[in-house]
Amino acid sequence: MARILIVEDEEDLAGLLEYNLEAEGHNTEVSRTGGQAIARARAHPPDLVLLDLMLPDVPGSEIARLLRAEPALSGARIIMVTAKGEEADRVKGLELGADDYVVKPFSVKELLLRVRAVLRRSEAPAAEVLTHRAIKLDPSRHEASVDGSPVALTALEFRLLRTFLERPGRVQTREKLLSHVWGIDAEVTTRTVDTHIKRLREKLGGAGEGIETVRGVGYRLAAE
Ligand code: CA
Repeated sequence: MARILIVEDEEDLAGLLEYNLEAEGHNTEVSRTGGQAIARARAHPPDLVLLDLMLPDVPGSEIARLLRAEPALSGARIIMVTAKGEEADRVKGLELGADDYVVKPFSVKELLLRVRAVLRRSEAPAAEVLTHRAIKLDPSRHEASVDGSPVALTALEFRLLRTFLERPGRVQTREKLLSHVWGIDAEVTTRTVDTHIKRLREKLGGAGEGIETVRGVGYRLAAE
């Protein structure tokens, strides 16, 4: 069971989602506007946010950015609900760290499958602490550090770093990273991967050099 915040201004759709998610045993709340969504999220931090991108007050991508910027909320999973033709917004949302998206019109069954998949990814069993040179990552406590100093990573950056630490010395193509870290097919521009690698390296400071670029292919964590 998860706490799910449904951010959707279409009343019928919001009701349908609420009904079906409650039937699956989840605890849901509905917000009709972006402003309300942020207030609700702060009051009751959700495990998952179903985020409509076209809201009456602010774009959904802005809500995703705000969620990711607040430490107490940055662990929330985000599934964007988008319409055809919102390609640019969708890419922006994924770059901001959304976990997945569905395109309207979608079937309730499809959405429930996505929700299950995203929640399953966040409930992975406690794993051992991973290290590489000065980098240390504790998956069970969701903590990362360099030379003992904590590094604040978004949920997505954390998964990205974990993927590298679990596969030292092995080349990870952008496509493989997209499917493993984002859980989506390479339909999204692979430039998204580059953007996140850049940010992750910056956050890791000097230790970020351990993530090497393999020209024309992808990335690799330097062998120890
Ligand atoms: Ca809408």
